[in-house]
Amino acid sequence: MARYPAEPWKVKMVEPIHQLTQAERQQAIVEAGYNTCLLASTDVYIDLFTDSGTNAMSDRQWSAMMLGDEAYAGSSSFSRLEATVREYYGYSEIIPTHQGRAAENILNRILVKPGHQCPGNMYFPSTRIHQELNGGTFQDVIIDIAHDPLADHPFKGNFDCDKLEKLIADVGAAQIPYVALGAPVNMAGGQPVSMSNIDEVRTITRRHGILLILDAARAVENAWFIQQREPGWANTSIAAILRAMCDLTDGATMSAKKDSFANIGGWLGLRDPHLAVQARSLVVVYEGLHTYGGMAGRDMEAVAQGIVESVADESIRARVEQVGYLGELLNEAGVPIVQPIGGHCVCLDAAAFLPHLNREQLPAQALAAALYVEGGVRGVERGTVSAGRDPQTGLNRMPTLELVRLAIPRRVYTRSHLDVVAESILDLWKRRDSISGLKFVSEPPYLRFFQARFAPLS
Ligand SMILES: *Cc1c(COP(=O)(O)O)cnc(C)c1O
Repeated sequence: MARYPAEPWKVKMVEPIHQLTQAERQQAIVEAGYNTCLLASTDVYIDLFTDSGTNAMSDRQWSAMMLGDEAYAGSSSFSRLEATVREYYGYSEIIPTHQGRAAENILNRILVKPGHQCPGNMYFPSTRIHQELNGGTFQDVIIDIAHDPLADHPFKGNFDCDKLEKLIADVGAAQIPYVALGAPVNMAGGQPVSMSNIDEVRTITRRHGILLILDAARAVENAWFIQQREPGWANTSIAAILRAMCDLTDGATMSAKKDSFANIGGWLGLRDPHLAVQARSLVVVYEGLHTYGGMAGRDMEAVAQGIVESVADESIRARVEQVGYLGELLNEAGVPIVQPIGGHCVCLDAAAFLPHLNREQLPAQALAAALYVEGGVRGVERGTVSAGRDPQTGLNRMPTLELVRLAIPRRVYTRSHLDVVAESILDLWKRRDSISGLKFVSEPPYLRFFQARFAPLS
């Protein structure tokens, strides 16, 4: 058996959880319209819906919250957050926001104009919707292998620099407001980007005068993979690798609900003081004053302390290797999952799990619902439903990946919880032929996966 470190924390406070009976779970999924997003959390036994904002905070974060300065203007908690982000991420201009998409809203309102093309290494839903709402069009320039769930590659999130160069040549640099760098790539299952690839993209964007913006939500996880897999980085600390990644970029949007062990919070980091002036004027409109941006003072304290904890090598190692533990249990049993195992989640390959269903029968949605009924485990669809409709044609986008994502909250579950998750999936794997497809019953216009309702086909 592979050896993993035990969790580098002990439990000081507990939150009881409870498993409903199978009959009760069946009833609950019908009431939720077969959408795991619409389940009550009290009906869920092990909740792997997301690692966003579901972190367990440390005793130091909770005590930092007592220091929160709730002043409307000039909060000292903002000063601490600003200094911490500057130190660990290196951006000089810090605009606080209530969460990551709020930073994306502000950034895209400033940068994206109708007709713009927005290249990135695979899309993220909240990033793409803000590009589109401002009249931009997302362009995927990730390496092809990222779309093959079973292909092994140490840096499967890398940009295809030829695709990026070709796009720039075709549309002209003036039509490209920025290049979006996701590191790691959430929608490909948490696949990392190498430092040398970021450096290459930096060279291209600089040559054409295009900004390079990092989605920093899980950049610490990306730094871990660089340390483990990329030649030349094995003896560099996670904090230094994170800083080296950020130093190659012009700015970042951050969801502190991810790496930073917080339950809410975010920021927009920039270097250009002129862009920062525009961002500060918009943050007042959409979020709050530029010294709190929609966060309470105590939340800014929790984020600042969380950043310090997140870059500790021991902490990020335990995080990523816990995810790897679950993935290896499934690999050993032959369950199809995205390879290699990513930093924050294990993704079931629903198309391979349920080969008797075609894509219009929404296999990933059906598998997520079946897993809930099987063991009370909640994952989320990342496939046809999440991809939405093409705004021009109105047709379903058909992404090559059809996944159920099992995201692991930080410091929340122990190894025995993950054993239960693996056992539920194996039981389902044995009776996979019995899982039927789903159809839409109702479908909201934006980010439809959150609120759509479904019914079984048979
Ligand atoms: C969560 C997330 C966002 C959006 O952040 P929120 O805090 O949920 O608004 C953006 N990009 C990535 C990669 C994320 O994981």
